[in-house]
Amino acid sequence: MTLASSPAMRLPAAGGRFGAFGGRFVPESLIPACAALEEAFRDAWSDPAFRQQLDTFRAVYAGRPTALTPAWNLSAELGVTLLLKREDLAHTGSHKINNVLGQALLARRMGKTRLIAETGAGQHGVATATAAALFGLRATVFMGERDIERQALNVYRMTLLGAEVVPVTSGSRTLKDATSEAMRHWVSCVEDTHFCLGSVTGPHPYPWMVREFQRVIGDEARRQCAAELSAGAPDVVVACVGGGSNAAGTFAGFVDTGARLVGVEAAGGAAMTDGRPGVVHGSRSMVLQDDEGQIAEAHSVAAGLDYPGVGPEHAHLGGAGRAEYVTVTDDEVLAAVRRLARAEGIICALESAHAVAWVLRAAGTGELPRGTTVMLTLSGRGDKDMAQLREMDALEVSR
Ligand SMILES: *Cc1c(COP(=O)(O)O)cnc(C)c1O
Repeated sequence: MTLASSPAMRLPAAGGRFGAFGGRFVPESLIPACAALEEAFRDAWSDPAFRQQLDTFRAVYAGRPTALTPAWNLSAELGVTLLLKREDLAHTGSHKINNVLGQALLARRMGKTRLIAETGAGQHGVATATAAALFGLRATVFMGERDIERQALNVYRMTLLGAEVVPVTSGSRTLKDATSEAMRHWVSCVEDTHFCLGSVTGPHPYPWMVREFQRVIGDEARRQCAAELSAGAPDVVVACVGGGSNAAGTFAGFVDTGARLVGVEAAGGAAMTDGRPGVVHGSRSMVLQDDEGQIAEAHSVAAGLDYPGVGPEHAHLGGAGRAEYVTVTDDEVLAAVRRLARAEGIICALESAHAVAWVLRAAGTGELPRGTTVMLTLSGRGDKDMAQLREMDALEVSR
């Protein structure tokens, strides 16, 4: 398929389909809510006043545009030109705020007074609590008990911001279960409540809507690369993939260039590599499943990537050969956090370090030849992971 004829990353087809993936597989009672949301998003997204309002909050509140920082030292060490799109510098410390500002403004436009959200690492919960505070909305965040333990600081942040945090005790007590619980709860309160979903997953229109709210990453990076690189566009664009929102937003800015698009999953949660087509949380995509077709557990050192599915557009881009999906191990990720910190003075999130880890490996094996230009989205900062890393280091020392 040529790029020009590729339907990739434009409007989804009728019913929210991306090729064989996507759709709206939800209980009957949620169909009207999803349809109303789609209608409201179409209307808002074609309204210049809404776009202007969002642009203003992005600039004066979230701190956009975020910098594109050359990784000077690492580039010299690796023999490639590595540029970092600094979503770690956005307000609340990750790309999640891009999506949440869009959805909160949309919720307000729809007359909703309350946001509910699911969260894994807690970054989306914090972003949702933040936007709720800003716009005077109530917020309830569903979070797996295991993640509550792993990410205690983010739980406290949400509480401080005025949100209610509901522990989810079912299943693996992580993001998958929190998402199921939030969807179940939404059925009972669609009248006054908007479900502020955190990634390019879920039923139509979420995968499309969230990608559109996140494409600000790719659009900014495209312009910044044009100013930074003699070739205009980079040879390779890389981002980590949990549900896939920072990657989708990044890829959207480069899908019409010749750049190789690489999504990096956690080896223990690699829906694109190890999954099979299936339905999870309202859409058809690639899903980790056991032999009986039950959704399998994901395991990653990064709570934000502990998710057995991936957004349907990634399944489509992967199937169409426009993007590739690779995996890195927890050990490679931990080494990457340290290497980036020492080389550049940037402590990134464990999730973001997946993308860094792949670049380190690929430069080492020669898969990225000398002189290759790489644009990497650093999806968030590492503050939330410090207690976890410190504990792991202490274990190491005592061994
Ligand atoms: C939530 C999160 C991710 C994973 O989510 P995507 O939807 O795949 O982007 C990655 N990095 C950080 C810092 C996060 O907070």
